[in-house]
Amino acid sequence: MCGIVGYIGHREAYPIILKGLKRLEYRGYDSAGIALYDGADIKLSKTKGKVLDLEARLEKEISTKGTLGIGHTRWATHGVPNDVNSHPHYSNSGDLVIIHNGIIENYESLKKELIKRGYTFKSDTDTEVLINLIEDVKKNENTKLGKAVQIALNQVIGAYAIAVFDKNKPNEIVVARLGSPLAIGIGEDEFFIASDASPFIEYTKNAIYLEDEEMAIIRRDKGVKIRKIKDDSLVAPYIQELQLNLEQIEKGGYEHFMLKEIYEQPSAILDTFRGRLLINEAIIKMAGVEDNMKRFLNADRIIIVACGTSWHAGLVAEYIFEDLARIPVEVEYASEFRYRNPIITENDVVIAISQSGETADTLAAIKLAKSKGAFVFGVCNVVGSSIARETHAGAYTHAGPEIGVASTKAFTTQITVLTLIALRLARAKGTISSSDYRHNLIELELIPDKVKKALESDEYVKTIAAIYKDVHNFLYLGRGYNFPVALEGALKLKEISYIHAEGYPAAEMKHGPIALIDENMPIVVIATKKGHYEKVVSNIQEIKSRKGKIIGIVTEGDIQVKELADHVIEVPETIESLSPLLTTIPLQLLSYHIALMLGKNVDQPRNLAKAVTVE
Ligand code: GLU
Repeated sequence: MCGIVGYIGHREAYPIILKGLKRLEYRGYDSAGIALYDGADIKLSKTKGKVLDLEARLEKEISTKGTLGIGHTRWATHGVPNDVNSHPHYSNSGDLVIIHNGIIENYESLKKELIKRGYTFKSDTDTEVLINLIEDVKKNENTKLGKAVQIALNQVIGAYAIAVFDKNKPNEIVVARLGSPLAIGIGEDEFFIASDASPFIEYTKNAIYLEDEEMAIIRRDKGVKIRKIKDDSLVAPYIQELQLNLEQIEKGGYEHFMLKEIYEQPSAILDTFRGRLLINEAIIKMAGVEDNMKRFLNADRIIIVACGTSWHAGLVAEYIFEDLARIPVEVEYASEFRYRNPIITENDVVIAISQSGETADTLAAIKLAKSKGAFVFGVCNVVGSSIARETHAGAYTHAGPEIGVASTKAFTTQITVLTLIALRLARAKGTISSSDYRHNLIELELIPDKVKKALESDEYVKTIAAIYKDVHNFLYLGRGYNFPVALEGALKLKEISYIHAEGYPAAEMKHGPIALIDENMPIVVIATKKGHYEKVVSNIQEIKSRKGKIIGIVTEGDIQVKELADHVIEVPETIESLSPLLTTIPLQLLSYHIALMLGKNVDQPRNLAKAVTVE
């Protein structure tokens, strides 16, 4: 999983590629490299570390001249992150150079073959095997680069988005994709290549998203020619107009993307239901649901597949769908689902949730469900992503680009979309009265303002963060709709502060985790008014008796928990099913401030990447 960028045209390639890599660092950031063609030769510089490390080094090492180049920011799969394993990789002759996102699964057998033929390898990567395979084919078949790439890729098992160029043909870049995203920006006599459109958004709004099993030969003078890798047939390019703008992908005055995205939630949630929630008519309009209403209404059950934070949104949705629409729901980790021979029938509806729309395990789960005849509905954020294309229908969250690796606005907007779907189905099924339905719509419409209010706790949350930042363990408890929020709160803290944290259903505490509680253990308890309040208060009593430190997330005006807890953070009152949209806000802020106070890299936590495009 990594970011790739390329440029061929009339401008200097280096600044475009460098800036593009910075925008793609959310995809991986353990090493980075750039290869430029300076008019006579390839100039290559790469290093372990971030794009900033590369910048510091590259400008001393090589000339930055040239109007053709490729760059890579890596998330290692094969070979430790070090200078040698960083991309780009040369072929043995030094004529060809490649960047690659993905995994060549049969690289070992290919490598053995190539070694027999005299090839040597500097790195431990699967990528270096691929570039030498391309070189070998090119020599043996005496073909052009494009043909050689095509023949080589037909021998490859795995996933890739690649860009390759040949120093003897410095007027073209060859790209291809299978399983990893690749966009081509089309300018005036210039072309951009990137894992998503953000590196070229200020240069062109026209883009082609390459489909799986397609390759493109991009020529400075002749433009883009797309072919199917398998059968060589020509594909007519489909040029899309991008809606993204530059402001959306920059920090806009915030210190970190994560904080910006936390604060964007009121408007992101509003954007999610804009045009869908028609309050005056008391209507929910979602084309993907309307067009497939029969499939939804005839569903024996809904299976939700997702990973990470999206899986938590799926757990919240389980409560919502069962509660409102009375449809049985199962929530599955995509990575488990795809490998455990699940029972799926044509009467199942599978909902796949993924912010990036590129999550490899979720994509594989979708393919499996489709092969068994299920109807698959996608909920993702990135327009035109692989999941958006692979599913039968879907709904975008419209949250805008999420760059911070720890997901925030993706979570709340996913819950918003899923709530809209559940309400629409409940109405169609008649499992909700018209007054309850109206009440739900009105409450949902009020959520953006209530999120704004919840964000006002920021300063107070900071003081709590300062008190607990040095502890080694945290416990998060919640019940019902707020049990998944407890899981999400714990995940946020783990991801960016590296403090160990566990989320538990509050009542389960007695069956194990209670043993962990002593006077050093902070326990975040979600104890909002609606939702088993009295039961949670009893759980808080149990913690207090064992001297645990209690941080309560409570409804405005709460009295009971305030008396028991060490600290309380208030959120506005709402109906129970919408409470996760509010209770999650202080938990996001708490993890943000703790991580910041510990000096951690909030937007790029260690070992993680934004879009998990490897399984
Ligand atoms: N498999 C390649 C490597 O380990 C590419 C990984 C990536 O997608 O960043 O270098």
